[in-house]
Amino acid sequence: DLALYESKRQGRGRSSCYTHGMLEVVTERVQLETDMRTAVERGEMYLAFQPVLALADDQVIGYEALIRWDHPTLGAIPPTRFIPVAEETGQIVPIGAWVLGEACRQIAQLGSEIYVAVNVSPVQFRSPLLLSHLTQALAQSGLPARRLEIELTETAIVEDGPQIARMLDAIRCLGVTVAMDDFGTGYSSLAHLRDFPVDRIKVDRSFVATAETDRHSMAVLEGITHIARTLGVAILAEGVETASQLQLLRDIGCDAIQGYLIGRPEPFAHDAFSQFGGADHE
Ligand code: C2E
Ligand code: MG
Ligand code: MG
Ligand code: MG
Repeated sequence: DLALYESKRQGRGRSSCYTHGMLEVVTERVQLETDMRTAVERGEMYLAFQPVLALADDQVIGYEALIRWDHPTLGAIPPTRFIPVAEETGQIVPIGAWVLGEACRQIAQLGSEIYVAVNVSPVQFRSPLLLSHLTQALAQSGLPARRLEIELTETAIVEDGPQIARMLDAIRCLGVTVAMDDFGTGYSSLAHLRDFPVDRIKVDRSFVATAETDRHSMAVLEGITHIARTLGVAILAEGVETASQLQLLRDIGCDAIQGYLIGRPEPFAHDAFSQFGGADHE
């Protein structure tokens, strides 16, 4: 029935072969939607951590937490595939709360001043539950608020200006810092920097990837670095894969980098507990 519905929706005259493909797409989506509801409690989701290197002294100053899902039959499902589904169904709110708790719990074990950066979806950002999820994650882990950073993309802050500004204020009042992720891929970026103060700008990896061959990319990287410096905002470049990219970013005065050159996202080896689904599973 789904296949029939889809073929009608897509317009008549499509081949049955195409209809069959649609059925698979719809079925898989329904399966992802369903299985996602129990994935955390079944211990199928875990966090990988990617180091952030400060270029001033080449020290690791933090880690970005990145969600992973090992599905029992479908295998590893990348976040780019299941996060959009989680956003559409609203499942991103409880899953995101688990990510916050788990990220804080694991980073608190590291001691020192190392911070953890957690990606927060626009859907979570608009949820009235976000503030309590943040305070719970901090209280349960004992992690000082200054060591938690949330990463927002520009799409999180496009609509509804005043309400977004109030939410950002509330988060920063807790002492949690805010980074703008994938900077340069959204639109009206400079207006956002003016209206929504952030602590860190993460320049999208597409600029790093093309900086050496495209003088426009290079100009944007240099320009953003200069603006960040002037605003007193830290600047981090994503997706650094080669030593020459690293040198170029040092030369223009970038504060910090992330990328496969420094380290791939990986679960912490010491955290035996996390493989059983983390704190929520005890
Ligand atoms: P992002 O926040 O921009 O994360 C950076 C992505 O780039 C990660 O992909 C990371 O593995 C990848 N990456 C890091 N260094 C390099 C590099 O040197 N080269 C290349 N080619 N890639 C690199 P990943 O883990 O697949 O995550 C993709 C996106 O999924 C993230 O982009 C983020 O938007 C979203 N995401 C991941 N975890 C979460 C989460 O817990 N919550 C939410 N809401 N979104 C998440
Ligand atoms: Mg991110
Ligand atoms: Mg990013
Ligand atoms: Mg991204």
